[in-house]
Order: sequence, then C-alpha cells, then structure tokens
Amino acid sequence: MTNQPESVLFKPSPDGGGQCLACAHYCRIPEGKTGRCGQRKVVNGELRVPRDIVAGLAVDPMEKKPLYHFFPGETVLSFGTLGCNFHCPFCQNWETSQVGQDPAALGTARDCSAKRMVDLAVQNGSRAIASTYNEPLISAEWTAEVLARGQDAGLKGCLISNGFGSKEAWDRLNPVVDAINIDLKCFREEGYRRLGGRLAPVLDAIRRWHGEGKWVELTTLVVPGFNDSDEELEQIIDFIAGLDVNIPWHVSAYFSAYRMPAEPRATPPERLQTAVARARQAGLRFVYTGNVSGTDTHDDTFCPGCGVVMISRRGYTVRSNAVKRGRCPHCNSKIAGRFDD
Ligand code: SF4
Repeated sequence: MTNQPESVLFKPSPDGGGQCLACAHYCRIPEGKTGRCGQRKVVNGELRVPRDIVAGLAVDPMEKKPLYHFFPGETVLSFGTLGCNFHCPFCQNWETSQVGQDPAALGTARDCSAKRMVDLAVQNGSRAIASTYNEPLISAEWTAEVLARGQDAGLKGCLISNGFGSKEAWDRLNPVVDAINIDLKCFREEGYRRLGGRLAPVLDAIRRWHGEGKWVELTTLVVPGFNDSDEELEQIIDFIAGLDVNIPWHVSAYFSAYRMPAEPRATPPERLQTAVARARQAGLRFVYTGNVSGTDTHDDTFCPGCGVVMISRRGYTVRSNAVKRGRCPHCNSKIAGRFDD
C-alpha cells in the first residue's frame, strides 16, 4: 500500500491542509495537493506519505553507499522509494527521484513490507539496512520504521541523504541511525538554490550527526562548471577539516546525466586528483575517489600514524583489511570508523 496516512511529521491547519515537517522546506500543503517533493500529499486533512513500497531493493557492498569506514567489506540491504526534495539537473537516479516533479520521470514502486526487508537482510547475512537511492526524508516515517525493525534484528541503520532534513525528521530518525553519508553538493547558496535547497541546513545536519557520535561520511560529486573551482573545493575541504579530519570525504566523478549538457561528458581526472591532493594537504586523513577506475583511483585506507595500507580495495571490493579492534596493528594508531573487534 502506498501513501498511507501518517500524522507524525505533519502539522494540520484549522482551515484544511497543513505543514509537512519532514524536511527543511517545511512545505505548507493545501488540501488535495502535494509538497515540493511531489510525494507527500494532504488528503482529507491528513498527510499521506510513502510507506510499504520500494522502487529499488538490493544487497549492496557497504562501499557502494559509499561507507568506507563502517564495517568494511560487509553488505547492506539497500532500499529506496520515489521522490526527492531537490531537483539536481545531474541526478543519476532521476527516473525515480523526480517522480512527482518531472512528468518524464516514470519510475514505479512495488509493495514491500518492513518485515520482508528485514527478513531479506538477515537471510543475506547483511550487517545493516540503508535507506538510499532516493532521498530518505521523503519516506522518513517509514524509513524509521524499517530501521527500527532492523535494529530489533541486530542490524545497523544507515541513511544516504542530501542532508536537507528538518529537526523533527532527524529527531525521529536519530534512535535508529548508526551511520550516514551526506552529499555536500557544493558550498554556495546560489548552487544549492539551483538544486532546490539551501546550504545552511545541510551544514547543520553534518554538524548534528557528527556531534551526536553517529558515523558520518561525506560525498561531493565534482561537476564541471558547477562546483569544481579551486575556491569552492577549498571551502568544502576547510569545512570538513574544521569539523573533524577523520571524516572520510568521497570525491566522485560526474558523468553527464538528466538535464546536463552532453559536454563536458565527465569530470576531468586531474580535477579529482587536485581535490584529493588539496584535501590531504589540509589534513583530511581519509579521502577517496568515486566513479573512476584504473590508475586515477584512491580507494585504499592508510593508517594516519605510520602510513601502512590498512584496507585495500578494488572498486567496491575489499581485498584485505588489517584493522584490528579499530587500530593499526603496526603502530596502534586508532583508525576512525566502526569495525568488528
Ligand atoms: S518532504 Fe520536504 S519537500 Fe516533501 S512535502 Fe515535506 S517539506 Fe515538502
């Protein structure tokens, strides 16, 4: 069943309609209409929200999220629904994320219960469940329910989010989330406006989840002409370094998609290399490349103490993991993250 009533992240108005509290847009939605995400709709004075559906469901390597320091080498049952509170013109998943916003987005969802998902995760030996593929905030209530069920079964909870959440949604998700990867898409208000959001709530979310002791990794898709200037990349790096040099930063290559022009087709490899080099100069300990292969990759985790390779990866595959009880076995330096004992 889709779009069932749900009142937790909703403030009804006496004159009909009401305000959705799931993301930092805080849409005021008239009766019979949807919010900006095109998915959360007021019907008969109640907010209908995505529930018991999946548009994507797969067992993924943890590295594919990407979460490189959260039980590396294990798998995560990954699910997504429909819709997004942003409309990034370079979205790689636009056929599902833009349903309700763009008539050309024809993605569909099928029924799937929370119990079914947890059963699948357990049967597949996964370590965690992740709400991913589209923005988890659109289905915040149901995501919380799925992750809570997973928690009862011993599974960790993960979000892959654009970070544009409301305090109310984060409060609801907090008890069931262990790790989050947040897209830090750029560092300019103008850039975020183009995507349909604002920078400040995203930075607040990063600070909040980190401050609460959850495991946080960040991803930036480096889009030519959008966020790839030296100045902007350095602003991103400075922000992360100022918060915690142990936060992993994934610098991903862009490939032309959705509403972006065919050229440039991709991020020039040297742009990614420059970003990696500058981040390391600024003191970030764990910087990785994404969406690239061959000699341009930075996939391995190095001990920040002695420089020895701790985790060797090829693509999403962990080839070896030397971390013992969260430490380097050579120099005993702590490796930030969540690891098995
Ligand atoms: S999730 Fe965000 S965009 Fe969607 S209706 Fe709620 S406040 Fe609006």
